[in-house]
Amino acid sequence: MKAAWFRPGIIATGLAVLVVLAAGYLADRQNSALYREQARAEVAESLSQLRTDMETRLYGSVQLIRGLVGVIASEPDIDQAKFSRIASRLLDGQSQIRNIAGAPNLVVELMHPLAGNEAVIGLDYMQNPDQRDAVVAAMELGTVVLAGPVDLVQGGSGFIVRYPVFVDRPDNAGTKPWGLIAAVIDVDQFFAQSGLLSEALPVQVALSGRDGVLSHNGVFFGEPDILNRDPVTAQVSLPAGGWQIAAIPQGGWQELPRDVWYFRAMLCAAGLLVVLPVGFAGYLHDQLRARSGKLSHRESEMRKLSQRLNLALETSKIGIWELDLDSGELRWDRRMKELYGVRQGESPDAVEHWINKLHPDDRPKAVAEFEEALESRDTYRSVFRIVPKAGTVRWIRTIGASHQDSDGRKIIIGVNWDVSEELQLKTELIEANQSTELRNLELEEARKQMEHNSLHDVLTGLPNRRFLDERVFGPDADVSPTALVHIDLDRFKQINDTLGHAAGDAMLVHAAQVLRQNTRGTDLVARVGGDEFVVVITNRVDEAWLERFAHRIITQMQKPVRYKDQTCRFGASIGITLADNDGAASNSQMLIDADLALYRAKRSGRNRYEFFDASLKAEIVSQKQLADEILTGLERQEFAPHFQPQFDANTLDITGVEAVARWNHPTRGTLAPSAFLEMAEELSVVHHIDRMILLKTLFQSKRWEAAGLAIPRKSVNVSAGHLNDPELMKLLHGLPIVPGELSFELLESIFLDDENETVSQNINSLSDLGIDIELDDFGTGHASIIGLLHLNPARLKIERRLVKPIVDCARQRKIVSSIIEIGKSLGIEVVAEGVETLEHVAVLRDLGCETLQGFALAKPMTTSELIEFANSEVWRQRAA
Ligand code: C2E
Ligand code: CA
Ligand code: CA
Repeated sequence: MKAAWFRPGIIATGLAVLVVLAAGYLADRQNSALYREQARAEVAESLSQLRTDMETRLYGSVQLIRGLVGVIASEPDIDQAKFSRIASRLLDGQSQIRNIAGAPNLVVELMHPLAGNEAVIGLDYMQNPDQRDAVVAAMELGTVVLAGPVDLVQGGSGFIVRYPVFVDRPDNAGTKPWGLIAAVIDVDQFFAQSGLLSEALPVQVALSGRDGVLSHNGVFFGEPDILNRDPVTAQVSLPAGGWQIAAIPQGGWQELPRDVWYFRAMLCAAGLLVVLPVGFAGYLHDQLRARSGKLSHRESEMRKLSQRLNLALETSKIGIWELDLDSGELRWDRRMKELYGVRQGESPDAVEHWINKLHPDDRPKAVAEFEEALESRDTYRSVFRIVPKAGTVRWIRTIGASHQDSDGRKIIIGVNWDVSEELQLKTELIEANQSTELRNLELEEARKQMEHNSLHDVLTGLPNRRFLDERVFGPDADVSPTALVHIDLDRFKQINDTLGHAAGDAMLVHAAQVLRQNTRGTDLVARVGGDEFVVVITNRVDEAWLERFAHRIITQMQKPVRYKDQTCRFGASIGITLADNDGAASNSQMLIDADLALYRAKRSGRNRYEFFDASLKAEIVSQKQLADEILTGLERQEFAPHFQPQFDANTLDITGVEAVARWNHPTRGTLAPSAFLEMAEELSVVHHIDRMILLKTLFQSKRWEAAGLAIPRKSVNVSAGHLNDPELMKLLHGLPIVPGELSFELLESIFLDDENETVSQNINSLSDLGIDIELDDFGTGHASIIGLLHLNPARLKIERRLVKPIVDCARQRKIVSSIIEIGKSLGIEVVAEGVETLEHVAVLRDLGCETLQGFALAKPMTTSELIEFANSEVWRQRAA
């Protein structure tokens, strides 16, 4: 876009302004110059008047004096009286000459008027330094000389006119100097008479050229400054020399003519007269141009629009029709004719033409819709089929609207386009949609099936654990049980192992059936694990009902089941929990409770049911507490050995000690293994206890050795877990073990349970370290003679339950005696445990048992007690 100032109108106006300004400026300057010239001419005129005046007056005075000079030339010896007479006559009416002096031989002798000037008589010019030079100059020049203005002796100032006088020599031989005539011209008078002092004088004047010497710059009349103010100058010619007269108008030069503003206003008006029409014309021109620019822009927009419209219509194959409502004339455009299969040359003339092209089936409806639109003048919309040519059918959609054109004719303009494909697509889409819906249904069905599968057990068809988690135990649970019954099949594992999985599966199906048959529709039977079931009971039930229910289940489960040609037997243990009346326990807590009850049922023998109750809960809480305390006890090393001495049966010397674990419980005092061993086993921490006891025993033995006590042997109890510890050997290698002084007591069962690699390796390594093996609680397990030989222990310890009855029962005595015999024959030492009375001591000694251990001789004790006990030898007195 061009800048606004670039418009030609503005440029033309600008130029006009420039021209007018320039012309105005020149005219103004011309005007000023003319004015100045005129002023100067006026001043010059005044000036020449003044000059003429001054010259006339001075020459007049000089003429007067010349007359006097003439008199003297003819009468050189003139006396004062005559001089005065002649002078007064000459000067009659001449006020500007103040006095005239005659000075023969340059000494003043004559004077007019004499009165007041007597003092001058006798003045010798040659003797007067003020006048000498001027007088000499006048005499030498031989012509009149004007001097001054000078300050006069009598006051005021004056010009002095000096006239040298020459007289004829008597012999007529030329002339000889007589002397001098000097006249004083009163300056003020002169100036006044010349008009210089007139108030009406239109100019200010400055005179310069003192003594008639033009080059004398000093101004002797008027303001010296006038010379600097561009004055008009002229020369006043004097009898000898001249003055310069300079003048400026009164009040100085006027810079501008008085009417300059009027002149300028006129100039401006004239300028405006030029600029305004030009500007207006330019503005009109610009407007015209802008408008024509917009017009052509609009035209091209229009062209583009119509091209686009055309393109759109062409590509979309939209036909346009127009119906003149007044004349009934129908006009179709080219595309319209193509749509309807009309040849380009021919043209439909009326609505009938269109009606003829309509498909017969759609005709009534299409015509009705059209007529209705005509009547209502509403937007016309319709869809119908046409038959462009025989055998083809097209779907047409039409939209029209009535309006009035610029000529005032009422017309309807509308468009038609082919929607056959669109409709085709639509029908296909609908069909596709229908089939998608069908597929979705199938998918939904499959999803439901999958969901059902994921929530049900395939084998029994019962709900599974996930089902329970979601519906009963989850946050969105919608089932509120009144009781939970947890059922676990007994001996099911054996069936699986011995008869195969198919048999196992059949039993599970059978069990599920038993449960279903014994529950109501409102109850929920679920299989929650391999052989575990849960029955969720939702009806109001009491304990008696549940007892009957559990009993029924157990009885029916115990009945033998035929599978193929096998008879299968299994049972069931049941844990039951009732919902609290206050509903405090959550559903998932109920499941835990039922599980605990089941656990108790299984522990107290199978085919039983147990209810969860407060005592069970308390038991569990205390068990939990015990477990926690054992773990912290281990950390705090609260487990320590007590030592029970073992004695030689014949000499009653102490031959060894067995270290037994004690727990120095922070609140409950010293606890024996029965209080913690079982739980420690459940926690799998017994081997930690064993290790602690072993280390502490080794340490304590140093104490009693230091106290002078010599006990040949100490033994510690070693659990299967400890023996199974791969770290055990590493530990033992780092300990100060003297071969033969330390034994490990092992239970028979360790060797029966498993033929463990680590265990047998460790046992071999033990003998390398010089650690003896003792077989603990011998006679209760199933150790075979072969196994015994294989293990090759240093000692057997006869279980105290076997020892206890030997005093009273000969048969029992016989068993113990046999064990002692076997030991002897295998070269294995025999230790009797549970030696509680002196009778025991005696019987065992008689039976040939080498070592005795029991309360009759000593109970387990601390190291300090052991030292004191050993030194006191109290047991000997008791036994004696
Ligand atoms: P045990 O190995 O048979 O240990 C002997 C137990 O018999 C000790 O019980 C001891 O106090 C008791 N006893 C000794 N003489 C008599 C008697 O004349 N009459 C009666 N009725 N009992 C007698 P304690 O200390 O309660 O130990 C019980 C069991 O705990 C031990 O039986 C042993 O199997 C186990 N045990 C003890 N300490 C440890 C240990 O450090 N580690 C392991 N793994 N087990 C240990
Ligand atoms: Ca033992
Ligand atoms: Ca024992």
